[in-house]
Amino acid sequence: MEESVRLQYLEAMGIDVWIPRHSPVVAEQAVAAPVGWASQSAAHHFDAPDNEAAPTPEHPATDETAVNHRHAEPAAQTAESAPPRKSESDAFAPLPHHTDDHAWKDLQHQVAICRACSLCETRTQTVFGVGNKHADWLLIGEAPGRDEDLQGEPFVGRAGQLLNEMIRAIGLRREQVYIANMLKCRPPNNRDPQAGEVDACHGFLKRQIELIQPKLILAVGRIAAQNLLKTQQPLSRLRGIRHELEGVPLTVVHHPAYLLRSLPEKAKAWEDLQFALSVYQSLQL
Ligand code: SF4
Repeated sequence: MEESVRLQYLEAMGIDVWIPRHSPVVAEQAVAAPVGWASQSAAHHFDAPDNEAAPTPEHPATDETAVNHRHAEPAAQTAESAPPRKSESDAFAPLPHHTDDHAWKDLQHQVAICRACSLCETRTQTVFGVGNKHADWLLIGEAPGRDEDLQGEPFVGRAGQLLNEMIRAIGLRREQVYIANMLKCRPPNNRDPQAGEVDACHGFLKRQIELIQPKLILAVGRIAAQNLLKTQQPLSRLRGIRHELEGVPLTVVHHPAYLLRSLPEKAKAWEDLQFALSVYQSLQL
């Protein structure tokens, strides 16, 4: 990937990057900023060559904790680096449309009336999932937060906005991927999902995976990664590895709400997204 493109992605994710004042990238960016990117440059110019953002006492590089989620308007795609997409025939081959639609409606109805765990007692509504039902990329978070419970959509608000930027970093828009949670109902006070709740709800997620037939699953956040992979290992040990869920390759990335609280970790999220993209691209070969 060209350095200028990399800087543009980092900018979209809000990652500050220090580059030498006389870098050719500076001149290149000064000439043309691509449509759809934030107006402020991510490249902060200085004379010293060292550009690493080190953890600080205020922002220690710790593993993430459970969080809240949200969303915003999709951003423009940079066509140059967008990963290859399914052809029409490939994307729609698994099921005829009418069968597909019926299966989705049936599943959505089952979720809406589900009372398989106690979370049904406290939810405002179920949060089924959103996006392209034939997406190559399936993003799975842990559970709805307060705003998701109120709006009925996963990843809304500030964390959702950052998730959208993270999606841009892999060359896609929010509506081109599918976004779901492990749990379809909000745990009270945003507590961590309990094992019994994850088990009770897994059938719905499994069915979503069957219907979407994604090429890659991105587990968003420590809680989702640990539960989906049935491990207690910290996210730091799960990063940079191609895992598998329901026969589909899976990689992990930090939760955007965690990244909002731990800005130095954004660089790791960038690495994780690039790793996910490399896994995805290897599947196209
Ligand atoms: S969290 Fe899942 S299993 Fe529990 S009530 Fe909601 S839809 Fe049903």
